Amino acid sequence: MPHRTESDSRRLLRSLRDALAEAGAGQERLDRITTIIAQSMQTEVCSIYLFRDPQTLELCATEGLNPEAVHKTRLKLGEGLVGRVARSARPVNTRDAPAERGFRFMPETGEEVFTSFLGVPIQRLGERLGVLVVQSRDPRAFSEDEVYALEVVAMVIAEMAELGAFVGEGAALAPLHKHPALLQGVSAQEGVAEGHVWLHEPRVAVTRLVNDDSEAEIARLREAMEKLRISVDDLLKMASSSDREHMEVLQTYRMFARSRGWLKRMEENILLGLSAEAAVEKEQSTARARLQTVPDAYLRDRLHDLDDLSNRLLRLLTGQGNDTGAEMPDRPILVARNIGPGELLDYGRKLRGIVLEEGAVGSHATIVARALAIPLVINVPRITTEALNGDHIMVDGTEGAIHLRPEESIARAFRDKMAMQAQAQERYASLRDLPTEARCGTRIRLMMNAGLMADLPSLAGSGAEGVGLFRTELQFLIRNSVPRRSELAALYGRVMDAARGHRVAFRTLDIGSDKITPYMNRPDEPNPAMGWRAIRVGLDRPGVLRMQLQALIRGAAGRPLAVMFPLVAQASEFEAARAILMHAIERERRLGHILPEQIEAGVMLETPSLAFAPDAFFESVDFVSIGGNDLKQFFFAADRENELVRRRYDTLSTGFIGFLQQIVDRCAAAGTPLSFCGEDAGRPLDALAIAAIGVGTLSMRPASVGPVKALLRRAHLGEAAEVIARAQARGLESVRPALLDYAATLD
Ligand code: PEP
Ligand code: MG
Repeated sequence: MPHRTESDSRRLLRSLRDALAEAGAGQERLDRITTIIAQSMQTEVCSIYLFRDPQTLELCATEGLNPEAVHKTRLKLGEGLVGRVARSARPVNTRDAPAERGFRFMPETGEEVFTSFLGVPIQRLGERLGVLVVQSRDPRAFSEDEVYALEVVAMVIAEMAELGAFVGEGAALAPLHKHPALLQGVSAQEGVAEGHVWLHEPRVAVTRLVNDDSEAEIARLREAMEKLRISVDDLLKMASSSDREHMEVLQTYRMFARSRGWLKRMEENILLGLSAEAAVEKEQSTARARLQTVPDAYLRDRLHDLDDLSNRLLRLLTGQGNDTGAEMPDRPILVARNIGPGELLDYGRKLRGIVLEEGAVGSHATIVARALAIPLVINVPRITTEALNGDHIMVDGTEGAIHLRPEESIARAFRDKMAMQAQAQERYASLRDLPTEARCGTRIRLMMNAGLMADLPSLAGSGAEGVGLFRTELQFLIRNSVPRRSELAALYGRVMDAARGHRVAFRTLDIGSDKITPYMNRPDEPNPAMGWRAIRVGLDRPGVLRMQLQALIRGAAGRPLAVMFPLVAQASEFEAARAILMHAIERERRLGHILPEQIEAGVMLETPSLAFAPDAFFESVDFVSIGGNDLKQFFFAADRENELVRRRYDTLSTGFIGFLQQIVDRCAAAGTPLSFCGEDAGRPLDALAIAAIGVGTLSMRPASVGPVKALLRRAHLGEAAEVIARAQARGLESVRPALLDYAATLD
């Protein structure tokens, strides 16, 4: 049995490289490659099969089989030994092919005389391109070294295909990822968008595949590994030990970065002739292929970590940063595994849409995407491996669907949908300057929710009468340290300037739960939504709250100021928060700062308990705003971020509406202004119900103001209230069907 040495492999890779550097059409190159491989492996046959479509492999070149069969012989995925290699992404090595499970004899190839078979997948970073096969007449089992050597060769071929070395041979060589794909994720921000993929972390282009000096190459790899280890250690030093998940990921990074096994495998690749970067990529490809078949989510995450680390290593070796020199396409749609809120803000409104492989409904990035009103779909499997920079992509943020490289018929239907939405927006724009007055003559105030300076231009555009909820978390979430008082004061001042005298209700910091800052030390909580968050943190550690209140007073610079405290669960919490506010005012007065002309201190009613506070509370608070998102999750005990339950209960269920009515009654009895600022205020039918039961002010995202106004202007609130009362009297579970019927009668 021939013994294969490292220098055989190195020689093989170099002659492949030289063969590919010579001029010639794609087919000629493929033929030349098969000849070289067969010679080097001392086999009679070497064949290359490539995917023609996701289910079909085609024999594209061969040394040793019947040349007539080239471009004629086809196999289905999973069919025969070649199909088995393609499907499993693992080598098949046998000395007796006909006796193997799944063997399929293809008479046109003349392969019946070759009994031993070794096939390895041709793949690049989890993307399957085809199968490389060697066969020989004598029943010989290929050694582990030979299998390994053939895998390395397959890797070089995969790279060549990627580099266009085979272009010229038409569709059969089109990599799989060029096909249209429909991927389903989870909607995190509604809206539709069409554009081109912009990868947040583009693949590093490996252009040097084969080494000339293995020792020098191993030295390069070790040097890059050392830099990688240092950078991971630095990350670990900077990370806060309270963020357990982040720490866990970094510790895994460290483990991989120090793993002898990983380094050894890459060094072996180099000894066989690959360059350091090609060696990293080969291991990365193998890990990705495994990733797709591992059922265990925890293990899949660890393989993802290895993937991340490989990318870092590739960047160190090639000197390519995030900026690979590619130009951002027009109408960019950002595609990423995940992204931080700061990075997203840096892109700003340039982006038309965002697609994340991971992400969470309540993550910081989601909050920013919402603030920027950019359609966002999260939890989209495989998107970062499927999408290539510049690919045509359509994002349906409402359905959570992604059309990658859509066919023309799909694209057309999608554009119709976009046009319909645009038309509706135009209709709403014509209502912008008209009052929100229902047919019965009742006036409702529609306000908008905001959280960024960038939101404020929407105030004029949407026709909102002010900002009913300004979420102040973002400035705290997007940086690595607590923002300075002077910066915050300047920002709050600019927000009020931009509101031009319209009321802005600033909500003090709602940190905790899903919104965690990297710099605040926090305990690990089993149930953070019900944990140490919002005003609870503000009262226990009043330093930041005090600073924020001072910044608000200074930002107001004499103008009226409305402040509301989040997640107040009982009256005494409001009293304590208000005392801190009063104290801040007193301090500012002593320091000679100009005081707001008027101060309103309100609460967000987000826990059922506050609805049962004593009358004195409702009399003393300046205003109440129902935070329906939280209130609903606590009312139904259904986590607002858990896909399995978050849509389970209806806001218009008679129970919840009845509960809201009690809050309306309590505020009315005390003469306290009441508003509603959860997401549901932006859904026209829900808004109609909330207004009909007597909530006079609704605050929503700017894009919802038009649709809500359009319905309210057509409705008679008294009639809607009767519809609700009748449904309640009949003991129905939800008032929605009846209210929908009513809305359908309106013209
Ligand atoms: C709410 O809970 O309804 C609310 C408006 O606050 P947030 O969504 O920021 O928790
Ligand atoms: Mg809330």
